[in-house]
Amino acid sequence: MPTLFEKIIAGELPATVLYRDSRVIAFLDIKPAAPVHILIVPHKPIATANDIGDEDESLIGHMFIVARDLALAQGIAENGYRLIINCNAHGGQEVYHLHLHLLGGRPLGPMVSRA
Ligand code: AMP
Repeated sequence: MPTLFEKIIAGELPATVLYRDSRVIAFLDIKPAAPVHILIVPHKPIATANDIGDEDESLIGHMFIVARDLALAQGIAENGYRLIINCNAHGGQEVYHLHLHLLGGRPLGPMVSRA
């Protein structure tokens, strides 16, 4: 079964795509948690951070380069932003296709609840 994000990559599901190249796609999160909430997703369907292979090193670096450039383009680079990768149940992962959240546009508060 293709993941939700594979369907977006294939154009089978709609999304507001902000950036695409041969290795990644970036689109708006459907349920934004901040004024800027973008997902940077590799075309390669890596399920979780646990499944990143040594051979993916440059792909993962590329995701961060794309996030950096999007933050600049969105005008949030100077004030700051947060990059998040959730992994498995305790990380709150919902979609099992690796993705980097780029969040910003307001003060984001503590990184994680201390409760
Ligand atoms: P995570 O909890 O890290 O797996 O995050 C999954 C994210 O995907 C959530 O922030 C969802 O709002 C987002 N999401 C789910 N379905 C879609 C969709 N069809 N288009 C854009 N974002 C989506």
